[in-house]
This record gives sequence, C-alpha cells and structure tokens, in this order.
Amino acid sequence: MCIFCKIINGEIPSSKVYEDDKVLAILDISQATYGHTLVLPKKHYDNLLTIDDDIYQDTMLVAKKLAKAINQATSSEGVNILNNCNEAAGQTVMHFHVHIIPRKKNDDVKIEFTEHKYDLNEVKEKIIKAL
Ligand code: AMP
Ligand code: ZN
Repeated sequence: MCIFCKIINGEIPSSKVYEDDKVLAILDISQATYGHTLVLPKKHYDNLLTIDDDIYQDTMLVAKKLAKAINQATSSEGVNILNNCNEAAGQTVMHFHVHIIPRKKNDDVKIEFTEHKYDLNEVKEKIIKAL
C-alpha cells in the first residue's frame, strides 16, 4: 500500500486540513512555503494519466477552494497549483496529488523553465493528432 493510502487509512499520522468522502488534503511534510498543502483523492490512482475524470474534478474543485482559503490564511500574494506526473516529471509518491504552494513576491521558491527553440508547427500537429 502506498504512503498516501496509509495516511488515508489512518495508519500514518498527517496534518489534515480538509476531508470529505472522496478527497483529503494534508500539509506537505516538507513545507516548500508556509502552508504548502497536498490534495489527494481517497481512492488510489497512480497519476494524472490514469485518474478517472469525475474523481479528478472532485479533487481539483477542492484544490481551488483550498487555494483561496490558504492564500487568505497565510497572507500570501499568489499560489502555484502543481502536479508532478511520473518519475521523469518529479513525482515521488505514486498516488495522484496536487500541490498548493502559497507564494509571496521575492520568496526563495524556484519554478524555472529553460527556453528551447523547437518547430512549433511540428509539435502542434503531433499533439492534435494524439487527441
Ligand atoms: P511529488 O514529488 O509531487 O510526488 O510530491 C510528493 C510530496 O509528498 C513531497 O513534497 C513530500 O514532501 C510529500 N510527502 C511525502 N511523505 C509525506 C507524508 N508522510 N506526509 C506529508 N507529505 C509527505
Ligand atoms: Zn495510494
């Protein structure tokens, strides 16, 4: 059983901030910023690619509601909603979850992109074909 399923089952303690019949939200144990929260479905899905649409919707609606509350509660100026999907993208716990990371101007969080020059038309066509 994965670590988040153990938390959901009450086998491992957590700092719970929200719970309903389908969704749980807990403080991330390694707080990237003050109030960093994880929102997860109670049913196990490995990641974004395998989660059912209805549970995804339920989870994201809770994430939206919590983003507002966390922003207010932590006096933040913004928020990152982040999902890492698969190991290559930085996922370490293979139970779908969304990070809510409250942000302030000039905080020390780095979410950076390196710019590459690709043929946009070629990429665009590939993606459209896969839909
Ligand atoms: P990710 O890298 O997107 O899979 O994120 C996994 C997150 O889970 C990390 O930010 C960890 O700090 C967090 N985490 C791991 N174990 C626990 C735990 N027992 N309670 C709360 N958060 C955890
Ligand atoms: Zn799980």
